[in-house]
Amino acid sequence: MARVYNFSAGPSCLPEEVLNECAAEMLDYKGTGQSVMEMSHRSKAYEPIIEDAEAMVRKLMNVPENYKVLFVQGGGSTQFAMVAQNLGIKNKKAAYIETGVWAKKAAAEAKKLGIAVDVIASSKDKNYSYIPRVEKVTGDYDYVYICFNNTIMGTHYEYIPETGDIPLVADISSCVLSEPLDVSKFGLLFAGAQKNLAPAGVTLVIVREDLIPEVDACLPGTPTMLAYKTHADNGSMYNTPPCYTIYVLGKVLHWIEKNGGAEGMLKRNKEKADYLYNFLDSSDFYHATTEKGSRSLMNVPFLTKYSTGATDEASVAKEKEINDKFVKEAAAAGLVNLKGHRLVGGMRASIYNAMTLDGVKALVDFMKKFAEANK
Ligand SMILES: *Cc1c(COP(=O)(O)O)cnc(C)c1O
Repeated sequence: MARVYNFSAGPSCLPEEVLNECAAEMLDYKGTGQSVMEMSHRSKAYEPIIEDAEAMVRKLMNVPENYKVLFVQGGGSTQFAMVAQNLGIKNKKAAYIETGVWAKKAAAEAKKLGIAVDVIASSKDKNYSYIPRVEKVTGDYDYVYICFNNTIMGTHYEYIPETGDIPLVADISSCVLSEPLDVSKFGLLFAGAQKNLAPAGVTLVIVREDLIPEVDACLPGTPTMLAYKTHADNGSMYNTPPCYTIYVLGKVLHWIEKNGGAEGMLKRNKEKADYLYNFLDSSDFYHATTEKGSRSLMNVPFLTKYSTGATDEASVAKEKEINDKFVKEAAAAGLVNLKGHRLVGGMRASIYNAMTLDGVKALVDFMKKFAEANK
């Protein structure tokens, strides 16, 4: 069976070498006669797996000593609440930069928990097609929250807001280890694994130790499982961790290291993204939806010339027909999951670390043929 090029926004493609290694070890992990799926998380065979995964995160992301690296569950979405419950405890006030769906959901969750949310900047005026410039944040905020790469809108911060003593929290779900990042500039970083790290099921949290409150100091009613302290004190093994996902995560991290680490990923990702954006910018059939200077290297939404913004029935029908045709014919050519998010429309190519330049070239070749046939 031939493998496809998978442009899914998440869960997304994994390096083929990693999948092959997992397959080879599926029935008998290193002579234990069991699959990692079947093992006790407290066993001699499993302990080194989670320890190595943490060590690799520390190494590849250059995590300072005074930060905890945690593996938790509940996805990125659970972090929206956990951040507020653990960090929003002093003044119960936080600043959010609104750059699309994920930042809005995070702010809504904080509000629900009684945090006074200040939206200090927003790119709503242009349907979140750019990242607002926020030079310096001051105020009595418990934290400042940003979504560093906006998976749906296709935007990415090219700077880190200066927040002084206020801890900066960033959702890096869709850009973790796609580029070097100075962890020391942040109070807390989190990433759901299923975009760039592993299968779904684990969320990576990197948090400065002094920001982790005692369990009882979290917002009233915070469950034990939603206190960072619980996971920090127990090596992410307070309860059963998502063992197999962490095992795959470790393998992906070794693959990243073999391919040049975060620097190597940036080089690889820039090459792919430049190839695609250069094509989009030079095409009179397609265009990117995001502004230069805010473009994601990971998620590339694009429209065709049939997305005119006209709302009459015929124009809307024509636009839908072209988009559907694109997605269907691309899939038949082995290029899958290119349907755009409904909030942007058109198409979206997610080109995470594991996507190859060959995959992007195959996509552009297809796009050229499709444009010619439908001009
Ligand atoms: C996918 C995504 C989320 C939500 O992650 P879940 O693990 O599905 O909860 C949050 N933030 C960003 C930036 C994402 O891309």
